[in-house]
Amino acid sequence: MTEILTSYVCGKWTAPAADTPAAHSAVRTISDPATGTALAGVSSAGIDFSAVAAHARDTGGPGVRALTFHQRGVILKQLAVYLNERRERYHAISLTTGATARDGLIDIDGGISTLFSYSSVARRQMPNSTVYLDGGVERLSTNQTFAGQHICTARPGVSVQINAFNFPVWGMLEKFGPMFAAGQPVIVKPATNGAQLTHAVVSDIIESGLLPEGALQLICGSTGDLFEHLAEQDTIAFTGSAATARTMASHACVTDRGTRFFAEADSLNFSLLGPDAAPGTEEFDLYVKQLVTEMTAKAGQKCTAIRRALVPAAHLDAVAEAVADRLGNVTVGSPHDEATRMGPLISADQADDVRAAIRSLTSAGAEVVCGFDPAGASGEGAGAWGEGAASGEGDALSPAFVAPTLLKASADVDAVHDVEAFGPVATLVPYTSLPEAVEIAARGRGSLVGSVVSHDPEVVREVVLGTAPWHGRVLVLDRDDAQESTGHGSPLPTLVHGGPGRAGGGEELGGIRSVLHYMQRTAVQGSPDMLTAITGTWAPEAKRQTEGGHPFGKNLSELRIGDTIVGGPREVTLEDIEHFAEFTGDTFYAHTDEEAAAANPFFPGRVAHGYLVVSFAAGLFVKPEPGPVLANYGLENLRFITPVSPGDTLTVTLTAKQITPRETDEYGEVRWDSLVTNQNDEIVATYDVLTLVEKGPTA
Ligand code: NAP
Repeated sequence: MTEILTSYVCGKWTAPAADTPAAHSAVRTISDPATGTALAGVSSAGIDFSAVAAHARDTGGPGVRALTFHQRGVILKQLAVYLNERRERYHAISLTTGATARDGLIDIDGGISTLFSYSSVARRQMPNSTVYLDGGVERLSTNQTFAGQHICTARPGVSVQINAFNFPVWGMLEKFGPMFAAGQPVIVKPATNGAQLTHAVVSDIIESGLLPEGALQLICGSTGDLFEHLAEQDTIAFTGSAATARTMASHACVTDRGTRFFAEADSLNFSLLGPDAAPGTEEFDLYVKQLVTEMTAKAGQKCTAIRRALVPAAHLDAVAEAVADRLGNVTVGSPHDEATRMGPLISADQADDVRAAIRSLTSAGAEVVCGFDPAGASGEGAGAWGEGAASGEGDALSPAFVAPTLLKASADVDAVHDVEAFGPVATLVPYTSLPEAVEIAARGRGSLVGSVVSHDPEVVREVVLGTAPWHGRVLVLDRDDAQESTGHGSPLPTLVHGGPGRAGGGEELGGIRSVLHYMQRTAVQGSPDMLTAITGTWAPEAKRQTEGGHPFGKNLSELRIGDTIVGGPREVTLEDIEHFAEFTGDTFYAHTDEEAAAANPFFPGRVAHGYLVVSFAAGLFVKPEPGPVLANYGLENLRFITPVSPGDTLTVTLTAKQITPRETDEYGEVRWDSLVTNQNDEIVATYDVLTLVEKGPTA
């Protein structure tokens, strides 16, 4: 019997002893699909899933939640570096999953890069605390004693991720990064096929010692009765088939106890060739190349792969010929051979499923252009192999191989919009008008991604706006972006991944969105002082502290939220305005021509430049000598509200609003609320001033 992969649960690695009856009855075997060699087994027999959930909740959760967003971000980066140093080992194991070296790059290097990306999100877009403010303070009362603020906090539950077989590393890390940043302990359940690779990466993560104990557990094998132990504060993030998603969504933990359930499921993604992109254009060639890439990368086992290729009816034959030609040049074989461009599917069973799906499509009316022909009619070369057959060169290939298969069908063939052949399979579908093409795309009932290949802005606009409601991502490809385009099939950490309807209705990635996805958003209402106390961020109209010296003289260990400097008043004269106009070259008539300015609906006559107001304000709150404030790195939310006429006087009130010490630097950011008023206490301008300030000895 092969070795049983260990699971990491409750702080230790465990597997049923190979000679126990439990192990024998529950084990599922993982084989190298290229060779058929059995590699390992998985079995979660004997695991106490109630203890696993409790370990995550009681040990992992408190450990992760004790860290600020920035501290979690630093750990994610250290983890990414740690895994990057060990990537060669993962690449070697990846070959045993049927993935070519190039496929491995998407999975392994792509996966590690999501950790870098989420480290950056946590450290750069979130505060160095455990509460994230979602939007600004909402005014709720006339006298401003009652206001509202949305906050996001970590849920005291566990996030369970259940992944598909196709990306054993990326699939885990693209979920782990945001979950960990959100303060969640994570239980990972990889698909059985490919679990040997997830196991290797998780082993290294645990060995690194970078994570608090309980922050990550691994289950190799089935999830047993884990769902019985999930409840309101827990989350299941699932990637896999729509059928499995339905089973999970109907579990009592979801339906009765309110466990959050997110699904990333099947998808019949489209790619449209614009009517302008006739044979001979750059876009035509780009379309053909992209389609072949999407059919053959990971042997088409990508949730984002193109399944429906929509082409102008007039170009159908030309596209079919060009794609078939290119597919004929794809070297199919064992990933262990460096020349291989396309490997086998993950398993012989998966290949059987794909051949069955091709059969469904052809029996519904699709025709085979090239590749596997259920009727055995295509006859020639690499395209002809069926179950367990040989390649065109006569080399024996295992039953896990399926020839890249291009079909063509009229849009009326319902199966084309329904049957997902999760392998190297796509169907050409002709269209005669753009509205029809948009309608065909929507017949997938919701997909992860669509693409339009065209150099005509009107075509692109119509297709993108028409298909966007049915898709999580839409890519436009043309001669201008082709060189740097990341391609139809690549989800990116900064952009959302997921689709409506059949695609599962979930949303992952998308930068900070995916972190917030795993948190609880709550609307908090109270006085500005209470909001300030709760969030650690100064709310407008909360108390200001003007005693204790100029806040610019304080380092981060001394500065407190609400510390305030009031500067002014300073009169703005006509000479000031004229001087500023001449000095800067900003001679816009509102500052230089009394009559024209007075005719403007917004101004009483000549007024001061907004930038003059901001500059005078800086002069009113500055502390000139060297001190803990290192730099002003910008302004945000600048609004000019009441115009300033010659003779008006300005007062500025600057209040420490948010203090963000950096984990890895000797300084941090301070955001200051800046309020400029005139002699009548009218608000002239509001904005946030952003500064870098030294931490000082104890910050
Ligand atoms: P699958 O059969 O649905 O399995 C997905 C995962 O669910 C595997 O880890 C599987 O474990 C587990 N699982 C199955 N039944 C379960 C149950 N009753 N309780 C708990 N876990 C269960 O899908 P797959 O064959 O691995 O993946 C292919 C499908 O995934 C395709 O349809 C593809 O479109 C979809 N996919 C979607 C995305 C996306 O982002 N939208 C990405 C990749 C793949 P075992 O392997 O141990 O059975």
